[in-house]
Amino acid sequence: MNNKTPNYIIKINVLNNAIETDIDDKNLSVVNIFSNKYTYDILKNDINELCCIYNDILNYEILGKSYDNRNIYLFTLGNKNAKHTLFIQASMHGREHMASILVMRHIELLCKNYYISEYKGLNISDILQNIKICIVPMSNPDGVDISINGAEVIREKTLFNNISKVIEENKIHHEIWKSNARCVDLNRNFGCKWEDSYNFNVKSFMEYRGEYPESEIESRLIANWTRENRPDICISYHATGSELYWDYGQKGLLLNKSMVIRDYLKDLTFYKLMDRSSAYKTGVLGYSDWVSMYLGIPAFTIEIGSPFVTAPLSMEEFNDIWEENKFIPIELCRYVVNKKN
Ligand SMILES: [Zn+2]
Repeated sequence: MNNKTPNYIIKINVLNNAIETDIDDKNLSVVNIFSNKYTYDILKNDINELCCIYNDILNYEILGKSYDNRNIYLFTLGNKNAKHTLFIQASMHGREHMASILVMRHIELLCKNYYISEYKGLNISDILQNIKICIVPMSNPDGVDISINGAEVIREKTLFNNISKVIEENKIHHEIWKSNARCVDLNRNFGCKWEDSYNFNVKSFMEYRGEYPESEIESRLIANWTRENRPDICISYHATGSELYWDYGQKGLLLNKSMVIRDYLKDLTFYKLMDRSSAYKTGVLGYSDWVSMYLGIPAFTIEIGSPFVTAPLSMEEFNDIWEENKFIPIELCRYVVNKKN
């Protein structure tokens, strides 16, 4: 007998009963949740459609281009002049593209409910007067397309040849590709203990740290944006594990703040809290570690999906993931606004 089912039912009941909100997620029609093949082209279409429907509250800009000439998009939802910012980025790892569907749906949910719904006694539009949500829905578009469709989607000859070589030598299926088009693992390319990750020194579909910190366009764009904008909170969506990484050795006020926010995330998702020792066991440090330790900003890595499976996730998991994560952006915004105004 599968003893997971009763727990799951209890969990969903707790989630639905505990939160006082009339946010309606029933008729979201733009972001498709029937296929897990969320390519860059689908993302582009959804961006155009959402920005067309919700043009008074949603804007996008192009932060830059990937090595194979795909755009790195950044959405801004809410008052663009608000002094507070929540930053969310997804799909830094190619095969974890379900996270792009999740954050695109977050955007659609909040746009659709912007003028009509409340969350914990506050109008969504009032919350988003004081804080803006900035979202990079696909940080590694080349990697996502390689994972979904194979090396053939890469148009630049040298990149294509190197990717094909890595796939062939490692005898892997393209769907488990994590790196960017230069075979660098973007989440190993930030300047936090980068020197210590010398085990990860060969071009690969995962774990290669690159030639130097922020050597890659994609990681540099995200790092520059974070440095310049200094969000109140940074969220990185990855897959898989149903885990929350929050503990990077931060101290004092930052530690206290991180623990408060960690508890909000835990209450919504019920994901497993990963302590510092479990993060260090992997021997590699990523964007959230860097944001917390070098910029002093509370940062969290949220691993969606079942433990013990490798991404890409099956779409069958999406409903659970959605229920666990759908209120995270608005909950964090409410927290920041309540606390500081
Ligand atoms: Zn990842």
